Amino acid sequence: MIARGRAEYELATQSVGWLGKSPDNVSSVLTGMMTHIEVFEDYSQERPDALRNYFTYVSEKNLYLTYALVNPQGDRSKAPGEHTKNIYHTLGVVEKNAKGIVVRGAKMLATGAPLADEILIGVHNPLKPGIDERYAVSFAMPLNAKGIKIISRRSYELGVNPKDYRLSYRFDENDSIIYFDDVLVPWERVFIFEDIEMCRRQFKEAAAEVLMDTQSQARYAVKLHFLAGLAQAMAETNGVCEYPTVRESLAKLACYAMNIEGLFNSLIHNPRVDNGFYIPDRTQLYACQVIAQEIYPKVLETIRKLAGGGVLMLPSSEADLENDEILLIIEKTQYSSVASPVERVRLMKLVWDAVGSEFASRHLQYEVFYTGASYFALERLYTKYDWKSSKELVEKIKAL
Ligand SMILES: Cc1cc2nc3c(=O)[nH]c(=O)nc-3n(C[C@H](O)[C@H](O)[C@H](O)COP(=O)(O)OP(=O)(O)OC[C@H]3O[C@@H](n4cnc5c(N)ncnc54)[C@H](O)[C@@H]3O)c2cc1C
Repeated sequence: MIARGRAEYELATQSVGWLGKSPDNVSSVLTGMMTHIEVFEDYSQERPDALRNYFTYVSEKNLYLTYALVNPQGDRSKAPGEHTKNIYHTLGVVEKNAKGIVVRGAKMLATGAPLADEILIGVHNPLKPGIDERYAVSFAMPLNAKGIKIISRRSYELGVNPKDYRLSYRFDENDSIIYFDDVLVPWERVFIFEDIEMCRRQFKEAAAEVLMDTQSQARYAVKLHFLAGLAQAMAETNGVCEYPTVRESLAKLACYAMNIEGLFNSLIHNPRVDNGFYIPDRTQLYACQVIAQEIYPKVLETIRKLAGGGVLMLPSSEADLENDEILLIIEKTQYSSVASPVERVRLMKLVWDAVGSEFASRHLQYEVFYTGASYFALERLYTKYDWKSSKELVEKIKAL
């Protein structure tokens, strides 16, 4: 558990925490299903074999997976089966035959889909028994399979100068909605078929979610350390590091980074024995998710407040630095006591890419939503928290 966690942390340092769906993320979902294969055996005879074989296949081929668990937004007050004008708005089963199942409809929001080898489909949203069984499926398919359409948002990497947008250029993950246009999924790739309760158990009872999101906390800790370092470099460049209020702001950023790092360490060093495996404590993970979602907007706000207009009083492109006439003016206008004008320009552009660019804005949305909307994480924490022990403390004082 600890070695695994340290490996995830080291991998995250390669992208300084900016790749949410690095290849060790969704593969952890499969590992977490395998540690609890009994959950699948409990449900069916054939489906666990499909999962076992798929796990071996992905491991041996070293494939990069993404996943899409969320039903596309439509009318959230209605279950998928109540979208009567289009019952295949959400991906559902059209028919089953000897070869497999034919599925139609959409799932969101597969990060990295244009880059990945395969996609895992599951169910995150609640389904209504009696009307939603057709949506209760889980399977995996190659992303170039016949009938799979990837509709990706605009790429933030496309057309930008790598030196102007160092993060966007390297780490954009191209979130996508995936449409299944009557895709035949062979039985050997079907893990759950029309079973609502099993879709819930797949992520909650097995260790799928907990292993995946432990990886996410490793990545997040690295990203927060990066952002703290970036903010301090910017403050030094602007000569404001010695102001007490600036030091307080920087200390808060360090505090957020250490907070998440501490929570991550507690996940890997204080696990539970679960089905014969060391697995991070789920309640602790849910607390982590809630705090992680709350912190990120504060981190960005803190850095923006430190940045002032410095992240915008910049030449439009790296190309300007190659124009002698413009470079002369840049040298006259981009002063710092600790950095050259060109260094200053490049640093401020990096800050903007991290906190203000379209890429940065997408990351804000990612950190706040990738594990589900905040009410979801809070509800899970409410359900799992040890209220009994907590209330015993209250009883102790009441008895005095
Ligand atoms: C950048 C990014 C990348 C993502 N990558 C992936 C990925 O790779 N794979 C994947 O499967 N998913 C991914 N997600 C999807 C993510 O899991 C969902 O965005 C998340 O589960 C929230 O669902 P939603 O977007 O449909 O929002 P909704 O569920 O529609 O919620 C939006 C808001 O509506 C309100 N609301 C909706 N329903 C309720 C309710 N029942 N009670 C109270 N309030 C409610 C809340 O204010 C909520 O914050 C990604 C999301 C983002 C933003």
